Amino acid sequence: MSTSTPGSRVSSRLAAISESATLAVDAKAKALRAAGRPVIGFGAGEPDFPTPDFIVEAAIAACRDPKNHKYTPAKGLPELREAIAAKTLRDSGNVVDPNNILVTNGGKQATYQAFAAIIDEGDEVILPGPYWTTYPEAIRLCGGIPVPVFATVDSHYKVSVEELEAARTAQTKAVLLCSPSNPTGAVYSPEEVTQIGRWAHECGIWVITDEIYENLTYDGARAGYVLQEVPELADRTLVLNGVAKTYSMTGWRVGWMYGPADAIKAATNMQSHTTSNVANVSQRAALAALTGPQDVVDQMRDAFARRRRIIVDMLREIDGVSLPDPAGAFYVYPDVSGLFGRDINGRSARTSIELASLILEEADVALVPGEAFGPSGYFRLSYALGDDDIVEGINRLQRLFA
Ligand code: PMP
Repeated sequence: MSTSTPGSRVSSRLAAISESATLAVDAKAKALRAAGRPVIGFGAGEPDFPTPDFIVEAAIAACRDPKNHKYTPAKGLPELREAIAAKTLRDSGNVVDPNNILVTNGGKQATYQAFAAIIDEGDEVILPGPYWTTYPEAIRLCGGIPVPVFATVDSHYKVSVEELEAARTAQTKAVLLCSPSNPTGAVYSPEEVTQIGRWAHECGIWVITDEIYENLTYDGARAGYVLQEVPELADRTLVLNGVAKTYSMTGWRVGWMYGPADAIKAATNMQSHTTSNVANVSQRAALAALTGPQDVVDQMRDAFARRRRIIVDMLREIDGVSLPDPAGAFYVYPDVSGLFGRDINGRSARTSIELASLILEEADVALVPGEAFGPSGYFRLSYALGDDDIVEGINRLQRLFA
């Protein structure tokens, strides 16, 4: 409904946005920590490393240069858009015209603007799930309807073309791809991406592909790039990306989107009326990140690879927990439905929200319940925290469920 009810003060469109289920646990964890409890949090969606020095140094130099103190083009500094085009070619093999790149305030703004650029009232977006919480809200904010297609542990949290096809209607405007995935860590192989891309092309729908975790894959897994596999999709694909995860730059707020000229122009017009250019100092930092030594990326990925092994192996020792090896990102997504109804110090839980709350109170461990990303029965644990904390946190779970 687009009309607000009489007497309501907040618009119905914004009132319909749900509070993130992650916030409830997070607030409780913070309150417990403030009360002196030794809470270990697996909720963080960001790398724990500081931003590499050479990037910080570039930002300091940028602060001192008055040309960065002024407005610049809304779509981003030309040098940065050139660097993004070069990085895109280097990593994915896609050739992109810097004019068709829009620099955004993080991947999040790119996500919102991608939907805003192509969605009309009532358009449906097929959303493979479990999905990142922002997608359905952004789709709804743009007047669209998210159509989730959920995958389970059995398919390693990946959906098939048949499942996508079953969700397609005459209103389907787009399909979203997020690989490596937040929250499951699933990585679609080049072959799987090819199948989905060909299907989308045949159906004449758009593909919005979120590649923000592209550099974080493990055990030789290789994420497929839909435009590499199905180049015919070029005039109906929007690619989302950013520096946040690869370079540990979540706080700097630099992302981007690229795609066909008309959609990027529309999104740029929108951004010119909302946030204008991303802070120039942050853009200069992102430029340094993309053009500087890339071994920092490997070092962080190596740390994540080590932590991933620790957390997956330790979680599997808990009876009632099952999970596939997540091939990418920095999350594990165990199915914990086997723990429902289990006696825990005289209490029990029937949903992952209840279980998360109980674990927090009984073991001082904060986890994000699956309800934030789709159905109950799962937890998302980030392993973007120190090795010792991971071991201690999962040890506590092992003891609680022993
Ligand atoms: N896409 C996905 C899948 C994410 O997990 C995130 C961060 N949580 C983003 C995009 C956006 O990241 P940022 O806005 O920090 O660049």
